Amino acid sequence: MDKRAVICTLCKRREAFYLRPYSGEKLCRKCFSKSIETKVRATIAKYKMLKFNDKIAIAVSGGKDSLSLLHILARIEKGYPKASLIAVTVDEGIKGYRDEALKIARENCKELDIDHHVISFKKLYGFTLDEIVKRIKQKEKKELTPCAYCGVMRRKALNLLARKVGADKLATAHTLDDEIQTNLLNIFHGDVLRIAREKPTTDEAHPKLVPRVKPFCEIPEKETALYAYIKKIKFQTIPCPYAPEALRNDIRVMLNRMEEKHPGIKFTIFKSFNKICQAVETTAKKEELTQCKLCGEPTTEKVCKTCQMIEEIRGVNR
Ligand code: SF4
Ligand SMILES: [Zn+2]
Ligand SMILES: [Zn+2]
Repeated sequence: MDKRAVICTLCKRREAFYLRPYSGEKLCRKCFSKSIETKVRATIAKYKMLKFNDKIAIAVSGGKDSLSLLHILARIEKGYPKASLIAVTVDEGIKGYRDEALKIARENCKELDIDHHVISFKKLYGFTLDEIVKRIKQKEKKELTPCAYCGVMRRKALNLLARKVGADKLATAHTLDDEIQTNLLNIFHGDVLRIAREKPTTDEAHPKLVPRVKPFCEIPEKETALYAYIKKIKFQTIPCPYAPEALRNDIRVMLNRMEEKHPGIKFTIFKSFNKICQAVETTAKKEELTQCKLCGEPTTEKVCKTCQMIEEIRGVNR
């Protein structure tokens, strides 16, 4: 057997440790991390995500994706003295899970000297996610999973916090995998018009809405994890206890199996969704953002989704 080390395709000097299946590149650690940082810079430029003087709020959960993003943006920001970073975290109130994540997020922010702000479901909505789950479990007709509540309520919480800290942009660590999973979920839920809303940058304009950007939207989740591992970034490894209930989990497994058999298929799906998004945008009537009658936050309905959920949760024991 040939025991010679495989040499990195890019630098042609160091030993390769990763074979990138969708490009055929064999990469050493240094070239791999550089390739991720270059891709993030390119994505930011391609979708015009950030301006040189933006105050950027980064949504940090404590997981590998968001902490990799925090570290990469901290690196990029060094070249833009007028830009600034601030980390924002939502504490949903998930016992034995979010507490540890918060601690890890705090430690990373301290290491990078980035201010960290936290907002909790309990303070904002009056319930922790654990309490919400307990209440919805008492209902006979269980239509939504914990993640459905969590996702909608976290989105609003992040926007409120980003606005409170005076951010110009809210950067989230949604990866290529997250993006295609979300759009497949939209299809599986029969919500095809929502595909037009899942973009690398939001274009819904409203004075109360902090524009969201996703600098990892073209990076596979596997590679953000590898980046965190190479850079020795400390992140939370235990999964959320509610994750197995989500349909997203089944979609993830299916997509990973397909990617293994057909490298590059996730990128193809991503491109397809971008085309569908453009087609849907030209045919569908753009929904106007107005103010929620109850909380005053931007929404396309009379009462925003979060307020509808809170009303429903409160009403369970009435
Ligand atoms: S897995 Fe679901 S419940 Fe857990 S944090 Fe994520 S969205 Fe929330
Ligand atoms: Zn190399
Ligand atoms: Zn509302």
